[in-house]
Amino acid sequence: MSKVVILDGGHGVDCAGKRSPIWGDGSQLLEWEFNRDIVRRIAAMLKAEGIKFEILVPEDNDVSLPERCRRANVIHADCGNNAVLFSVHGNAGGGTGWECYTSVGQTKADAIATVLCKEAEKEFAPDGWKMRFDYVDGDPDKESQFYILKHTVCPAVLSENFFFDNEKDCRFMMSDDGKERIAKVHFEAIKKIV
Ligand SMILES: [Zn+2]
Repeated sequence: MSKVVILDGGHGVDCAGKRSPIWGDGSQLLEWEFNRDIVRRIAAMLKAEGIKFEILVPEDNDVSLPERCRRANVIHADCGNNAVLFSVHGNAGGGTGWECYTSVGQTKADAIATVLCKEAEKEFAPDGWKMRFDYVDGDPDKESQFYILKHTVCPAVLSENFFFDNEKDCRFMMSDDGKERIAKVHFEAIKKIV
């Protein structure tokens, strides 16, 4: 049986912070909007391919992490413990480039994250983007105690798709080309793992 892909666009319209500075031309990225835009694009690609998916947060407002994990765990149970979750984010903190996370320790998510990292590297590295990989434990993903990764039963991977507080990254994130390529990286990885 093919997997059900759970797409999580983090944060909501009512989230404080989680936004870029207002750039010289008056433009600004709001992370919740970016995350949902990427999720919608991935969903459209999956739909066209006939891959089953669920959008975890159809609402615009912020849905709490416990509620998001509860929903994900229901979907996972309902499909015979055969779901995989992708949580899509924009990064902040003054860096640049692309990275992704799994929960701490070796789980099924690590192999999935490795596939996603390879697709991202193929898409972005040729343009000189920094791939923020961490090979300390033998694979390219980073590990973290992020709530959504720790409290979901299904394998879960969280992608941080460039830095919205860095103008070059943010311009890429706001461009249609950038958003389409970020979505495509997830889609290509999903095709390989479902
Ligand atoms: Zn985020």
